[in-house]
Amino acid sequence: MKISRLKIPEGVVYASLREDGYHLILGDIFHEWGELSEPYEGDYTLLPPVSPTKVVCLGANYKKHAEELSLDVLPEPTVFLKPASSVIASGEDIVYPASATKVDYESELAVVIGKRAKNVKEEDALSYVLGYTAANDVTERNMQKRDGQWTRAKSFDTFCPLGAYIDTELSPDDLEIVGKRNGVVVQRGRTRDLINSVEKSIAFISGIMTLEPGDVILTGTPEGIGELSVGDTFEVDVAGAVMLRNTVIKEKV
Ligand code: MG
Repeated sequence: MKISRLKIPEGVVYASLREDGYHLILGDIFHEWGELSEPYEGDYTLLPPVSPTKVVCLGANYKKHAEELSLDVLPEPTVFLKPASSVIASGEDIVYPASATKVDYESELAVVIGKRAKNVKEEDALSYVLGYTAANDVTERNMQKRDGQWTRAKSFDTFCPLGAYIDTELSPDDLEIVGKRNGVVVQRGRTRDLINSVEKSIAFISGIMTLEPGDVILTGTPEGIGELSVGDTFEVDVAGAVMLRNTVIKEKV
């Protein structure tokens, strides 16, 4: 199924996305829930599909991307964080910071954690996953290089767009990830080329920090990264489905 998160006049709700529209979910998607049989017909605003306590990201997790950035592929996964405050929904604008000189897109598969995970074994890892969505790990490339670490470059408000829904039925072994800038394909990768698989990433990260339900893991970007300009629209498709689309606007200062 496909799970979205909506703001409706009564509050914030989850809903399942079906052919006839959104069906509101009652209960807790991480525990027990059910959905209304009739589609929702009221007003709503699409929200990011979860409200994570943290977004944990894999760096240099596709060989060809590591090569294009001259990053070493280390024996252990490279992980970094994006703050929850950087998360936006599909359809919201990516704000090009006034202090930025080179803002890049990175199309990625995002893993949404479904239950608390600590010291999880690789073979059990997928049982901790609620589902998958698309992400854009927006990055200020010059700051990333200049700072020697990545926090500033990766953490601006709006730098973590997440897809319009969580797909709970995908298998992460060989998903196609496509990035389109202004409708033109600029990235195309497959998760079978991940250096660290989804299972290995969950095991590694959960050995460091407790992953909470709704936390998100960004699995890294394939090759083909490039720059965004004000006015651009960037789309990320996962497994042939358009999951995420955002337009870049200039920061108002
Ligand atoms: Mg990335």
